[in-house]
Amino acid sequence: MTFDYDLISIGGGSGGIATLNRAGMYGAKCLLIERDPVLGGTCVNRGCVPKKAMWYAAGVSHALQDAGDYGFPEASTQFDWGEFVEKREFYIKNINKAYEHYLGKNTVDFTHGHAKLVGPNTVSIDGQREVTAERIILAPGGSPVMPDVPGIEHCINSDGFFELKEQPESALVVGAGYIAVELAGLLQALGTPTTLAIRHDSFLRGFDDMLSGQLMQAMENDGVDVQKRFTTASIEKRDDGLYATSESGETIGPYSSVIMAIGRKPATDALGLESVGIATDERGYIPVDEWQTTSVPSIYALGDVTGQAELTPVAIAAGRRLSDRIFNGQTGRKMDYNTIATVVFSHPPIGTVGLTEAEAKEQYGDEVKVYNTQFTPMYAAFTEHKTKTAMKLIVTGQDERIVGCHMIGRDSDEMLQGFAVAIRMGATKSDFDDTVAIHPTSGEELVTLR
Ligand code: FAD
Ligand code: NDP
Repeated sequence: MTFDYDLISIGGGSGGIATLNRAGMYGAKCLLIERDPVLGGTCVNRGCVPKKAMWYAAGVSHALQDAGDYGFPEASTQFDWGEFVEKREFYIKNINKAYEHYLGKNTVDFTHGHAKLVGPNTVSIDGQREVTAERIILAPGGSPVMPDVPGIEHCINSDGFFELKEQPESALVVGAGYIAVELAGLLQALGTPTTLAIRHDSFLRGFDDMLSGQLMQAMENDGVDVQKRFTTASIEKRDDGLYATSESGETIGPYSSVIMAIGRKPATDALGLESVGIATDERGYIPVDEWQTTSVPSIYALGDVTGQAELTPVAIAAGRRLSDRIFNGQTGRKMDYNTIATVVFSHPPIGTVGLTEAEAKEQYGDEVKVYNTQFTPMYAAFTEHKTKTAMKLIVTGQDERIVGCHMIGRDSDEMLQGFAVAIRMGATKSDFDDTVAIHPTSGEELVTLR
């Protein structure tokens, strides 16, 4: 049987683009179908990239607040939201163009439209034409979940946050994951008085307790009003702004913006899964085996839609490995979902890889040993604003193999990557101890832990 293409991707975000560029490099005939007007998906257009730009702006704001302590008394902390958002969007437009350029360079065809499966090798585009391929990858990503509460129409989510052309005068962020702490932190730093409403006593509950505890302290010190045990039951619009009422009847407000950041859901509706007999799991994700193959052998799925570590580099790595294997004969090449390093771009940032202390103890029991440190980084020695840095290494067995590394504090975002390589290679505590420190840095604390 002959097909129009070797490989089609439904979705032109991190995963789809990476898979097809790699396949195209190997000479495969590929077609990418994206329903957004621009390429890049969540990460580029309404995720990592605009978020990191705002995080940098927030960092500048913090630096300006510290400027007097460093001998610059006249620094202004006035932030022009509109002007910066324009610059951010210009930067993103250039990335969109660069993606299109690279697809062309790798001879990947690209078309706009809504793609839907109509057979194991056939995709319909906007219901108007059909294309066939020997293999199809599903990389449609996901979208924010909105809670079903009265008044939800007055709220925005992370997509809406990145559309804001003016700075909110005050904000309520609802949620307790990556997005909630990131948005609350940057809004507060940029001068928007911010409340963060969480359902329990802590946020980032799947992270090591040390990280969530330290971040809670730092955010509260920075002025974020963290409302604990506040499960939002309704939102009301009054003349002076938006109010939120909890399940227990407590009302907080007014806020000019309410941002829901309570998780994301996979974009599987209108994908035509039923036409080929692919069933989603109980959470709505597409189940795949270790080779990213769905229940239909010619159809693969990767990235956020599979619900495994919803991070850009994970979608990219899964896609590139798939193309290496299928189109370059690299037998056995597949994504390893263990020991994935991740950073939360909070203020201060978190870097984390491997097991939490609780997970390590559950898995290895008494064999676990924990090394901790907490200190004021040298930068803060000169400032009034003294955000601490904390680090934790979790080791097991006689050889003290490192199974978890967690850090929070200035530069943790940049520090983690190198340590993640070492840990993936099986580093032990003595490997760290034998590594000569770089001085004066925060990173040196991790190789001098006692
Ligand atoms: P996506 O990037 O979402 O791409 C899917 C694409 O498919 C979309 O463009 C969509 O329009 C298209 N599509 C869907 N259905 C169809 C269809 N039927 N037909 C045609 N096209 C379709 N990750 C990090 O690693 N670091 C970060 O700092 C980070 N920050 C984030 C901040 C925010 C606010 C958010 C929301 C996410 C963040 N992420 C971050 C997560 C990251 O964005 C995702 O993990 C990543 O984008 C997943 O890539 P993907 O290819 O699976 O999906
Ligand atoms: P997350 O899944 O990280 O967190 C959502 C949290 O919100 C839940 O864990 C839950 O915490 C809380 N929650 C759920 N329902 C409600 C509710 N009804 N009311 C209040 N709180 C609720 O989702 P995010 O949307 O923050 O992010 C989605 C994913 O995107 C992340 O998991 C991550 O993979 C990726 N991402 C990565 C980033 C990075 O790499 N820096 C940045 C941003 C996103 P609890 O049970 O404690 O209430």
